[in-house]
Amino acid sequence: MPRWTCGIDGCDAAFDDVESAIVHQTNGHQRHECKVCGTIVPDGYFAIRHAFDEHTRAEFVRAYDADSAAVRRREGIKRDIEREADLQRVVDQLDRSP
Ligand SMILES: [Zn+2]
Ligand SMILES: [Zn+2]
Repeated sequence: MPRWTCGIDGCDAAFDDVESAIVHQTNGHQRHECKVCGTIVPDGYFAIRHAFDEHTRAEFVRAYDADSAAVRRREGIKRDIEREADLQRVVDQLDRSP
């Protein structure tokens, strides 16, 4: 049973390791335009990381019309991924793909 699903717009692609899931999110989906600052970032994990590393929760809530449950859910996803993922491996895989 794969442990990680993509989840972008209901995408149910599933992966055994989190690095593959992030590579899929980055290569398999449209880029996401940050609603706070307009930066184009890969959707999925990188979009979440951008939102919470670069902006405050208040900015996120305002720009995305989100509630605190949505913030907590994303913070939980980010924490789970960062506990598990070898992000250097992700970056290496992304560098190698076209
Ligand atoms: Zn997907
Ligand atoms: Zn931004």
